[in-house]
This record gives sequence, structure tokens and C-alpha cells, in this order.
Amino acid sequence: MQTTEWFPDDLRVRLAAERAMEQKQSELAEANSKIAAHARQLTEKVIESRTEIALVKSEAETLRDENTEVRHDLQRAQSAIQIAERRLWESLETIEDGFAVFDTNNCLIAANRAFLAPFQGLEEIQIGVPFARIVRLAAEEGLVDLEGSSTDDWIAEMVARWNLDDRKPLTIRFFNDTFVRIIERRTRDGDMVLLVVDMTETMARARELDDARIKAEAASRAKSAFLANMSHEIRTPMNGVLAMTELLGESDLTADQRLYLDTIRNSGEALLVIINDVLDYSRIEAGKLALTPAPFDLEKCVNDVMLLLQPSAREKGIDLLIDYDMFLPTGFVGDQGRIRQVLTNLVGNAVKFTEAGHVLVRVVGLPAIEAGHYRIHIVVEDTGIGIPEDMRQHIFGEFNQVEDQMNRSFDGTGLGLAITKRLVGLMGGEVWLDSDVGKGSSFGFHITLPAARGGDVPEPDLPDWLGQISIIDPNHVGRALVHKQLSALGLAPEVFDGLGDVPETAWSPRDVVFIAASLVAEIPTAPTASPAAMFVLCQGPVAPDMDLPPSGQVLTQPFLRHQLRDRLANLPTPVVADPPPEPPLAEQAPPQTRLQVLAAEDNKTNQLVLKKLLSAYDIDLRIAENGRETVAAYREARPDILFTDISMPLMDGKDAAREIRAYEAAHGLDPIPIVAMTAHAGAEMAAEITAAGIDHCLTKPLRRNDLAEHLRSVAPEGELPIRETE
Ligand code: ADP
Repeated sequence: MQTTEWFPDDLRVRLAAERAMEQKQSELAEANSKIAAHARQLTEKVIESRTEIALVKSEAETLRDENTEVRHDLQRAQSAIQIAERRLWESLETIEDGFAVFDTNNCLIAANRAFLAPFQGLEEIQIGVPFARIVRLAAEEGLVDLEGSSTDDWIAEMVARWNLDDRKPLTIRFFNDTFVRIIERRTRDGDMVLLVVDMTETMARARELDDARIKAEAASRAKSAFLANMSHEIRTPMNGVLAMTELLGESDLTADQRLYLDTIRNSGEALLVIINDVLDYSRIEAGKLALTPAPFDLEKCVNDVMLLLQPSAREKGIDLLIDYDMFLPTGFVGDQGRIRQVLTNLVGNAVKFTEAGHVLVRVVGLPAIEAGHYRIHIVVEDTGIGIPEDMRQHIFGEFNQVEDQMNRSFDGTGLGLAITKRLVGLMGGEVWLDSDVGKGSSFGFHITLPAARGGDVPEPDLPDWLGQISIIDPNHVGRALVHKQLSALGLAPEVFDGLGDVPETAWSPRDVVFIAASLVAEIPTAPTASPAAMFVLCQGPVAPDMDLPPSGQVLTQPFLRHQLRDRLANLPTPVVADPPPEPPLAEQAPPQTRLQVLAAEDNKTNQLVLKKLLSAYDIDLRIAENGRETVAAYREARPDILFTDISMPLMDGKDAAREIRAYEAAHGLDPIPIVAMTAHAGAEMAAEITAAGIDHCLTKPLRRNDLAEHLRSVAPEGELPIRETE
């Protein structure tokens, strides 16, 4: 049973009411607390909103300030732009050149006064006018010189030019004789900016300069022509002076007189060199020097120059060497005289500026693009004083020299290299220079020449009995060149530094030895093992006291390729245990059609006289400068007759005759007629001459008929052929 059941009803009602009331009170309390919480929230929100409003207000104020500042900045910028624009235009107005801008439609949008000036009075020329219209107005109103074009053509040309991408500045002449240069540039936006530069003064100056240049060139040509004529006129009497001193020198003179005469001759020769240089230079300058090409032998040309300069090189103890490319032909068509002149200048300088060592001429060449032509490089290399870097261009100028302590002592005009450069240029080539101060210089040049057709003479065969070939020379450069030349002949020489390096076995009679002259004294005198030939390598004429070794013969360096071959080809076949048949020497020589005449004469004038006297006859004349050369020339190719001077340097005519007679006797050869040519006729001299094995004697001055008589005595059937040109 429930407790309520125990209470009376009114109590129960009251209890229920109390409970209901309690409930309502608790609900009320809850509602109150909710209202309080809500009120709190509301209060908080109100506070928040107030804060936000305050913030918004302050932001609005900041923005307003910033806005004001920006407005001020804008105003300032606008006024700066206006100032800049005004300055720009004021500047553009101050310049004298015209300035204009055209928009992408080619209409004028800006122009300064200078640009508009030529169009004064033409109302159309204002902002907005198209470029083509400006051009038309300029042409039609006669503002510009159309230079012979029609108005329409000129306008078309100008408009076409306007549309080109790559425009060159254009010079226009206005009616008032002013010149302007128009320069256009397209901007990135496509506008065209035009600059019109006043060129009147520049053009006037250029015209003046042109006139001055033409006048100067004419004056220079006149000067060169004058110099050329004068030099030529001076040279002619100078030759007379020199010829007379030569003749005078042959007469009896006292020691003093001879000294004076030598001085006159030396000064005269020096003067002639200068005159020749000046003459050549002025001829080139005046454009009067023409090349005369003809077939010639380049190797011989180089060799001749070296022989010419050998006396001065020998005096200084310098070796002259030639390295001629073994694959390069020797016959070319060119102006031999001028090539010789260039070589003489370069080799002459090399010898002049070298105290010790060598001067080497290297010649190499390759076929050129043009068929039958060769590009030839010639380098003259010396071991001399060298040329400082800053002087290497300078010395090619006229009268320029390296003027310092080092070479002030050398004489010369300073014209040689200038002439060389011009001559090589005339031949279509170039000159260059390498140098190492204190070590030496190399002057080089190249020219392209056609090879001479059919110029190469068939070469004689080398003997098939040749054994070992040895080269004994301490000079590496010279030795290498001999080695190269022998190798080019298909031989395989062995090379030694000195005699001590040669193996003990020594030489067989078939061996051939090339030995430096400096080593000859060391050759053992015992005649046990003589080679077939011992070529003594000499620079120039041999010292008179030099004893040749057994089977020795002089080989003068530099020598030509074919000379070396001839010398080897002409060696007598050695007598060995099983000797091959030995033909007599006379039969070995190739059959000669012409009379072979050898003349020994050291005096240049007399050489000339002799040549002149004999020029009427169709003979082969070789000239030797002294007795040594005479003997060498005789051995090289036996002549039919020898004319010899008596007093000559190194070896006189009598000694030369004695050597030749001894050689003939040793080889069982018929003696050739030897005719002396002497100025000293006297009984005593005549006896000496005969004693030396000389057959006849002619007294100087020589007469053509006397010479001819001797020639006739050796000519086949006594007939002396006359040269056709005579
Ligand atoms: P020249 O020899 O008459 O003075 P060049 O024109 O031939 O005139 O030479 C000009 C100068 O160049 C010479 O004076 C010399 O100073 C210099 N020179 C030429 N060749 C050589 C060389 N091989 N070695 C050193 N110097 C040289």
C-alpha cells in the first residue's frame, strides 16, 4: 500500500499544490538565470559593436588622409610631367637639327622648328599631315634637289624607303645648297622618330679634303716622276765615273793614288746603290715600274744571290744556306730581276745584321688554285740582332731604320724594305716578319707564279756503283740541308758530328764523303782508305793554304740540286777488285754541241769586256772569279779551252794551270789549251807562264780577233759559229 493512501484528501491536495508550486518556482529560477545570461550576452555584443564602430571610424579617417596624400602626389607628378615635357621641347627647339615624330598611321604628331623651317609658308605642313604629303610638297615645291630623278620617282623612292625595315641614313641636298642627313628610328609602339642632321659643313670639309688629296697625289706623282728622271740622269754619268775608275785601277799607280782611287770607287758604288734605291722607289711610286715576266730558274736565282753575298758573309764567318723544297719545281715564269732584288735586300740585311751563325733561305711551295701555278713561300732566316716588336711595322716605311745603339753603326738608306714590300705587293704577294731580339729575324714573303713549261732538263743518272754516303759536319743546320738534298736524290746518307764518330772500318773506294772544310785538317794523311770522292763543304772560295785530301774536291755551299747530281754523276768509276768497265772521262761528259769556254777573271769590268768581246760567237762561256774556282769549274765540266787572268785572289792563274795539268796527267786526259790574259807583258813573266803549263799568252787590252783565233783552234773544223742575233 502507498503512503498517500494513508493521508486525508485535503492534505493530499495541499501536498500536490505545494509540489506544483515548487516546480513552478524552480522553473522560474531557471528562466531568470537564462534571462540573466542572455542579458549578459547582449551587453557583451553591445560592447563589441561599439568597439567595431570605433575601429571603422578610425579606418575611414586613415583612408581619407591617404586619399588626400595621393591627390597631392598626383598633382605633383602632373606638374613634374609638364615641366619635363616643356624642358624636352625647349631642348628640342634649341638644337639645330630637325626632329619629328610620326604615329603608326605615318602622320606627323610632333616636330621642332628646325624640322618645319624648310616648309615655311606651306600651311599644310602642320600636326596631322601624312609623311607622304610632306615628301610630295618638298619635291613639287622644289625644296630638294631630286638629283636627276623625276618628281614621281623621287617621291616613290622616299615612300618605299620609309617602309623598309633596315634603312641606311640618307643625305639630301636642299635648294639653298645645304645638305641634311635623315636618320629614322621606329619606336616600340610603332611611332617613327626622324632626325634631320645638318651636314653642310661636313660635306664642304670632305670636298675640300678630296680636292687636297687629289692635289697631293698629283704632287707626289710629279715628285716621284722628277726623282725617277733625276736618278736616271745621275746614274748614267755615275756609271761612267765607275767604269773609268776601274780602268784607271788597271794602270800603274802609286800606293797613294790607288788609295784615292779605291775611295772614289767605294764612294761611287755606295752612291750608285742609293741612287738605284731612290730610282726604284720613285718608279714604283710614280706607277712606272712594270714587271717583265719570263721563264727562269728560281733555285738558281736564290743560289746566285747567295753567291753574290758570300764574300761579305765569309768575312764575318756566317754560313749561307739554302733549303729548297725538294717537291717544288725550279722553273717558273716571273720577273727574275725583281725577285732577285727582293732576295738581295733581305739576304743582304740578314748578313748585315748578323755577327755569327747562319743565314738560311727556305723555299717551299704548293700548287695554287689556278692550274699550273704555285704559291711559293720564301723565308730568309738569320741568327742576328733581331728587331724589337715596336719597330717591326716601322722598318717597312721609307727611310726607316731601327735607330738605336744596337744598329746605328750599320749604314744603309732605310729604303730596302720599303722597296721590297712594294715589289712583292706588285707581284701580288705579301711580306711578313718574325723576330726575337738578340736571337734573329725571319723575313718572309709569298708570291704565286706559273711553272715554266718544259723547263726541267732531264737529269743525268747517278752512278750505280755508289757505296756508303757519309756527311761529317758539326754544323747541324748545314748538315741537315746536305742530308735533305742527298735524300732527295734517293740516297741514304749517314751523318756524323766529327771524324771521331766515323766507325773504324773507314771508307771503301765506292764510298762518298761530304766533310765540313773545318774538319779537313783532321783527316789522317795515310792514304790507306780513300773514298771515291771527298766533297769538302766550303762557304765561298777556299782558303789558299787549304790542302785538299786525296780524292778531295771542293763543293761550294750553297749548291743547286742539279749541281749535286751532276757532281755525283761525273765521279770517275772507282778501280776496285772487280771493276765495272770504266769509260774515259772525255766520253762520260754529255756530248757538247757548243764550244765550252772557261774564263778566269776576278775584275768585274774585265769580265764584262770579255763577255762583250765573245758575245758575237755561239759558245758556252763560264766565268770563274779566281784560280780555285777555275780548277773546280774545270773538274765539274771539262772545257774545250781556258782563258785565264794571271793575278787573282786566293789562287793565281799559274797555280790553277799547274793543278789542271797535274789532274790531266793523273787521269790520262788530253791537255786542254790554256791561254793567259795579262796586263804585264814581259820576258820574265812569259817564262813563268810557260813553266806553269800555259800554252799561249794574250796581253790586255784584249782584241776580239786574237780571242777568236784561239777559239777557232779548238772549234770542230776550225769553224767558229756566229751568234744569230749578231
Ligand atoms: P737599310 O738596310 O738600308 O737600313 P732597310 O729598309 O733594308 O734599310 O732596313 C731598314 C731597317 O730594318 C734596318 O736599318 C734595320 O734597322 C732593320 N733590319 C732590316 N733587316 C734586318 C735584320 N735581318 N735584322 C735586324 N734588323 C734588320
